[in-house]
Amino acid sequence: MIKVSINGYGTIGKRVTDAVLNQADMALVGVSKTTPNFEAFQAYKKGIRIYVPKESQKEFEEAGITPSGFIEDMIKESDVVVDATPNGVGAQYKQLYTSMRKKAIFQGGEKPNVADVSFSALCNYDEAVGKNYVRVVSCNTTSMLRTLCTLNKVSKIQKVRGTIVRRAADPKEVKRGPINAIVPDPPSVPSHHAKDVNTVLKDLDIVTMAVIAPTTLMHVHLLDVTVSDPVSKEQVLEVLRNTPRLSLVSGKSKVTSTAEIIELSRDMGRYRNDIYEVVIFEDSVSTRGNEIFIMYAVHQEAVVVPENIDAIRAVSGFSDKTKSTEMTNASLGIRP
Ligand code: NAD
Repeated sequence: MIKVSINGYGTIGKRVTDAVLNQADMALVGVSKTTPNFEAFQAYKKGIRIYVPKESQKEFEEAGITPSGFIEDMIKESDVVVDATPNGVGAQYKQLYTSMRKKAIFQGGEKPNVADVSFSALCNYDEAVGKNYVRVVSCNTTSMLRTLCTLNKVSKIQKVRGTIVRRAADPKEVKRGPINAIVPDPPSVPSHHAKDVNTVLKDLDIVTMAVIAPTTLMHVHLLDVTVSDPVSKEQVLEVLRNTPRLSLVSGKSKVTSTAEIIELSRDMGRYRNDIYEVVIFEDSVSTRGNEIFIMYAVHQEAVVVPENIDAIRAVSGFSDKTKSTEMTNASLGIRP
């Protein structure tokens, strides 16, 4: 059993926590909380052990939550810490993980140099096996890498040009925008997403541009991928269909937007309407000679969850990528 703790129980942390609880080879030590808010209460009610900063113990007790200990105690009990604290906070914690000789999984909001390797399960699982520190790349980068490493099986990728339409905020956030504008972010080319893809696919010729749009549901990517040989749309669709962490939706079933994708997820009974898969608009997939065009949607709150689970196994020395991804997929209800 791999003993796992989650430091930072927010959008990503709570989802990774639930996923860890679903793994036959993992045991959850507990989660950290810095304030006794509604998320702390819901976790506590579920029987999840809560660990707190020393100075917050009294505040939690007065609010009716008995902490199981301090954050340092939680880390001490763990084999692997999943750090899902806000951007930059993970790097501050690294010294603690190092001094306590604990392996850690960081998230995409941290700089790449926080870890030994930036990680995408379908692209470079093997590089993370046995490492101490692994960074699961961001939601945008995770989805791009999954898609690109899959398309690379059709024909070797020569170059990628992509446009990213980013959701402005997660549904729970109250202070982010815009609410009435589309904002180039950054207003320069390339956006940082291309650089982040290059942390895993080091030599890939990729340029991305990004805008933020007033929506909370999902990101959308529009990619133009040049491969070595002329390919047909059917060849591309065949490979996409056979990759479990990608799924296709089509206009025939009237799934034509991010709103309908989220509604479909609700109808499927997915917990928190989470979509772990990259959702490809089938009708957008087309080819012209050796160029592939594709549009897909990314549920930013959930897409990195499978990669976090695989990263936990990889740092623990589990070297069978296929077995790990299959176990993760089965546990999360991702089709084989
Ligand atoms: P979040 O704000 O929802 O959650 C962060 C949690 O960490 C909060 O519960 C916060 O209270 C807690 N926290 C803050 N300081 C802490 C400290 N010192 N010790 C312990 N806990 C602390 O953030 P998030 O959206 O889950 O993002 C976490 C990481 O995941 C970031 O690196 C982010 O870039 C990355 N990420 C986010 C998304 C997304 O769409 N939200 C997608 C992929 C990756």
